[in-house]
Formats: sequence, structure tokens, C-alpha cells
Amino acid sequence: MENFQFIVELLTAGKRPATTEEVQVYERSLEKVGNTSVVMVKKDIEKYLVAAGSGDLLKALQGDSVGEGKVCPLTHENAQVLNQFFTYTKPQAFGTEVATMGLGDRLGVASPGHIETVQGHQVKPILAQQSIRELTLLHRTMADILDAATFAVFQEGYKNGYGADADHIKKEEDITYALELGFSFLTLDCSEQIRNDVEDMVLEDIHKEFANLPVDRKEYFTSHYLNKSFAVQGIDISFDEDRLYKNMLVYGAAIDFMEHVFHQYIATADQTIDFEISIDETETVTSPEAHFFVAEELRRRGVTVQSLAPRFCGEFQKGIDYIGDLEQFEKELQEHAAIAKHFGYKLSIHSGSDKFSAFPIIGKYTEGLLHIKTAGTNWLEAVRVIAQLNPELYRRMHRYAEDHFEETLQYYHVTPDLSSIADLDSTSDQDLSAYMDHDAARQLFHVTYGILLTAKDHSGEDLFREEFFTTLMRNEDAYRQGLVRHIGRHLDLLNI
Ligand code: ZN
Repeated sequence: MENFQFIVELLTAGKRPATTEEVQVYERSLEKVGNTSVVMVKKDIEKYLVAAGSGDLLKALQGDSVGEGKVCPLTHENAQVLNQFFTYTKPQAFGTEVATMGLGDRLGVASPGHIETVQGHQVKPILAQQSIRELTLLHRTMADILDAATFAVFQEGYKNGYGADADHIKKEEDITYALELGFSFLTLDCSEQIRNDVEDMVLEDIHKEFANLPVDRKEYFTSHYLNKSFAVQGIDISFDEDRLYKNMLVYGAAIDFMEHVFHQYIATADQTIDFEISIDETETVTSPEAHFFVAEELRRRGVTVQSLAPRFCGEFQKGIDYIGDLEQFEKELQEHAAIAKHFGYKLSIHSGSDKFSAFPIIGKYTEGLLHIKTAGTNWLEAVRVIAQLNPELYRRMHRYAEDHFEETLQYYHVTPDLSSIADLDSTSDQDLSAYMDHDAARQLFHVTYGILLTAKDHSGEDLFREEFFTTLMRNEDAYRQGLVRHIGRHLDLLNI
């Protein structure tokens, strides 16, 4: 504790503490409230808040007393204390006037690099963003990811605002929980209500199913759409019987669910929420006319959304570039962007990491006003750091990932050609980081994060986790620079 004693004394004397050999001080975090000064520090690989002086903030923080101050671990309770005293450490909604980027920090250590990346760009970071799938695979909770964002923002002295996305939520109990915790963004995943079987049905069966619907439901839709044409930013969208019935069957239940969630939870929430509709995690590609149909229904039912994620043509696989016909993509994206603009929300691009060939198109038609989600790419950058600085650990992780790849296919749709990955034994240490520039190797790691970070040996000890985080925490700057370079390239190509 003597290392901390020195910092407490400096804070008490009103001086700025600086990094020493034993303790790293995050100088941008230094804050003063009343007579309490507080700063974030790191000793070895552990971070703490050091507070000194007197007053409510010092009293509220929980930690060990040192001289006239306290050394406080980064617990959930202390995160809430920061939220209470510093509003900028709490997530907030951003509406539709500014671009937002979902940066989901899978590891809880990437946000400082993400914060640095967005500085100087017209975009607000959604620092916390994790689907239930990712939380489950990593044994993390929604509270964990909010706390990590709070501490990162505080550490960086970042006061321009950030958001927290309860991502791909399907269940109402998760909505309640996320809103209670203070999430500012909710992505409603409607994939369980969207029917994938309609695409392959013959028209006769579609008409039959339509005929069996209640009379007033049929009337509600046909009177508004049938044989009508809608002008959307110069594009005409029209519905004949086939098209209308098909969209009703595919999206009808999903739209009812969106309407219910909006009125039940979003409109009545204590704070403003960015509400996003996701119809992307389904086998049915969202045609522009289907997108219009969903958006028009939301409008008719008084549901306001800040963003909507269609399922685009082609493939947005994790961690690699766009797969598909770019010309077709451009044609449809232009229409999707026009529809979003018409209804006054942002188009949302999911699995948006590494889609470098599609970014210029996306940037052009959305005019830089969009929501884009990236997630796993910060994990891949962390693996790159491991490959560079702890080759022995990298080799063990790589082998383990190859042995356990098949298990991930129940959660993720990826199609890497694993045989194209260079043989590990004949690759030198210096060349290991090149794996993170190879598509199949990227995907191999992209989907095995949960397996790797929760792997145990026979005695129940972590196989990789501890050493992985220790390496990262000892090389925070290398990780930060990697993120700034890689995520920064996304923003540049999107022209944000
Ligand atoms: Zn999605």
C-alpha cells in the first residue's frame, strides 16, 4: 500500500500524481468533486480508483483506507458511485441526428482504444454492446459490460457521451432487466417472430393462408396497401396481392411484437432510449419493399425507432469482408437508405466489422448518418497483440481453436476454408500476427472466443484466460494502437 500512500498524499496536497515505476496513473481521469480528488491507477495488471480528501464522494466509494484516502477496487458498487457523481460515465441515447458505432467490448478492456478511435470523427461510440449469446459464451453479465464502459470512460476522461446497447434482445424479461440497469439503447431481435418458411411456399399456399386470417386483419392491411404505390425519395414501392400477402405472413407477427415492446417498455421508460429493430438475424433477405412494409406499419402504429437493421443481400460473415454481388448490394442499399431517410431513422449495419469493400457504398448512400455494429473485431486485435508479444500462448490458443472449431457452428454461421490456414509449426514467431490478416484464421478465432476464454484444464484452472488478460494488461498501449488503426480504417472508409 505504500505505493498508493504517495498518491494519496499528492492528491490531498492538491497536486497531480504522475506515473511511477510501481504505479501507472491515468492522468486524464483526475477529477475533483467538493473536497474529494479521485484518479484511476494501475498496479501490475490491476486497476483501482484512488481517492483522497473529504466529502460525499470519498464516503461513497468503497475501498481500503490509506492515510487520508481510499484505494478502491473496480467493483459494480464503485461504478455506480461514479455514475452518481459524474453523469458522463452513464450511457445516454443519441437519437437520429448523429452517426453511432457499436463497438461491443468483448473483453472489457477495449473501450479506452475505442474512445481514442472515435475522437475526431462525427460518430458517437456505443461502448457497451453485447448480445445474450456473447454474454453467455463469456460468462459475463449485462452489469459487467456497463461497469467496464463506466470505468473506461472515467479512465480516459472522455466526456462527449457514449451509449450502451442491450443487443439482440428477444425476451421481455431481458428488456426489463437492461432498462433497469441503465442501458440507453435497445436492439429488439424479432427473428423468432419472422417466418422463414414463407419464402419457399408456392403462391397458392400463401393465398390460402391469407384467406384464413381474421376478416378485420385482412381489411387492415389490404385497404392500406393493395394495389397502392408509395413514393419514397423518388423510388416507387407497390404491393400487388402476391407481394402483400407474402410480407404479411413473413413479418405480421414480428410487427405486432415490435408494437407491443415499444408501447410497453420504450415509450414508458424513465430515460430516453435509442430503439432499434433488428430483422437481420433470419434466413429471409429483407427486400426494399419488405423494409418499407415494416417501417410503414411501425409508423401507422405510432412506433418510433432510431434505427432499423435489415438483412442485406449477400453475406455479412463475422470478421471478414463482404461476400456477394457488390452491384446488387449497392442497388439495394441505396433503396434501404432511402427508406430509412424517408421514415427518419438510421439504417443499421450489423456484423459491420471488416466489410471494407462495402463501406464506401454504405458511406455514400447513408451520407454518413447510420448505425454500424462491430463486435468481435476488437477480440481479433487482442489476439494480434498476443501473437506479437506472447507467441507461445498464441500457439497454444491457435491449436485449441482448431481442435474445437466445430463446436462453435451451433452459434455462428461462418464458412472458413480451414485448410488454407498456414501450418502453425512451420510459421515463425515473427509471422504469427499475419494470421490475423488471413480470412480463415480470423474466422477461426472470431467464433472460438468463448471456448478459448472459458477453457479449463483437468484441475479446473483456466487454460488461457489469465495469461491472455495479463499479456493484454501489460501491453495496453499496443492494444490501443491496434484498435485505433483497425477500427479507424472502418471510419475512414465509411467517410464518417
Ligand atoms: Zn444483427
